[in-house]
Amino acid sequence: MPQVYNWQLGRKMEYPYEERHPERQFAFVFNINRCIGCQTCSMSCKSTWTFSKGQEYMWWNNVETKPYGGYPQHWDVKTLQLLEEANPDGQVWDATQNGAQRPYGAFGGMTIFEAAQRRIGPEGPQRVLGYLPTDEEWRFPNIGEDTAKGQKGAALSFDREGVRLPEHKSWFFYLQRICNHCTYPACLAACPRKAIYKRPEDGIVLIDQERCRGYRKCVEACPYKKSMFRVTTRTSEKCVGCYPRIEGKEPLAKGAVWETRCMTACVGKIRLQGLVTIDPKTGGWADDPQNPLHFLVKKEKVALPLYPQFGTEPNGYYIPPRWVPRAYLRQMFGPGADEAVEKYSAPSRELLAVLQLFRAQQAVISRYDIKPGPKVFETTINGKPWALYNDTVIGYDDKGRELVRVTVEEPFLKRPGERPNSI
Ligand code: SF4
Ligand code: SF4
Ligand code: SF4
Repeated sequence: MPQVYNWQLGRKMEYPYEERHPERQFAFVFNINRCIGCQTCSMSCKSTWTFSKGQEYMWWNNVETKPYGGYPQHWDVKTLQLLEEANPDGQVWDATQNGAQRPYGAFGGMTIFEAAQRRIGPEGPQRVLGYLPTDEEWRFPNIGEDTAKGQKGAALSFDREGVRLPEHKSWFFYLQRICNHCTYPACLAACPRKAIYKRPEDGIVLIDQERCRGYRKCVEACPYKKSMFRVTTRTSEKCVGCYPRIEGKEPLAKGAVWETRCMTACVGKIRLQGLVTIDPKTGGWADDPQNPLHFLVKKEKVALPLYPQFGTEPNGYYIPPRWVPRAYLRQMFGPGADEAVEKYSAPSRELLAVLQLFRAQQAVISRYDIKPGPKVFETTINGKPWALYNDTVIGYDDKGRELVRVTVEEPFLKRPGERPNSI
């Protein structure tokens, strides 16, 4: 089987196809700390793409409550268990081996592609290790909503003194999920009809509805369970990355590249999405320090991939929730979790400015600049001095046109004296 380089794992890995990369890659950062679980994102996707017959249970975007919730139920626990069975005690990282090509160290375990090759049993080796959820498991986009982990792992038995940083004893958080438009998609690898493809211009992964015969191999293979079967057409469907918006065909956008429906609708301002340039020589992200996604993922390393150990190189990144026990975060986001939480808890001047760009407007921000402002606040965080500057961050589109200008401190707007209670 061909070997491809997976920078999130810090090593080469087996994948059924030769390494190939798009010119630019659809990518996004979700700041878990700010999500209020309102599901506006889920509804905006549903009312755009999955409102027809046969799609009733489909939530291409869903927000689930961790640690108990999952859509489909237990999707991540089940895949982690399959990997654990294939490689007991071996699913470990060597975080000491880090560098530019392996920012999180080197993964010493087996990915879903590697474990499938060694699978023994009646079916023999397969292309991807996975499972097909039952119909019942797809019933709820956020089962166990707001259910916190209690004492000794029991749900609903709250530790009454356990809500202090750095780690709460009773905790939950919302996990926002869409297709990751993976660099090495498991759905694509598993499809016997070659009906799934990754677009060379933006890395969006799509299912050709003409070619699909509904074998559901992609549903079984996707470790994130973001490919879904539709009974009325007997084909599989998935998030399309709102590609008309990425192509600048959103009628309201007048030709500009807009962020997707689920991103722009986000009430909690937790989402930032765009395109990153891929270096044709390495297949990794080209050095583009003024791109906000590049800054958050590559330079500041405050945003991390979801379950990188699965091996698909997902292009969705998360700023981990800072109150959650670190062992849980390490399992979910890899060995970079501790550093990411530390960076977010005492943000650098640049990070604080870039965080203001989240949902500042609808067009894709390709570049940012920061205009320094005055110091407005001082304190200590974790025993170290920390200062807040009222800097201005300016976002530009891919043609260098200014899109937005925001300050770190929200401006204070005073209503006129006349009719102060009306807008
Ligand atoms: S998240 Fe799943 S459906 Fe989406 S590209 Fe990756 S493997 Fe395919
Ligand atoms: S990117 Fe578009 S298609 Fe995908 S989940 Fe978001 S709204 Fe739905
Ligand atoms: S719209 Fe934003 S804040 Fe609301 S659930 Fe979705 S991601 Fe969270």
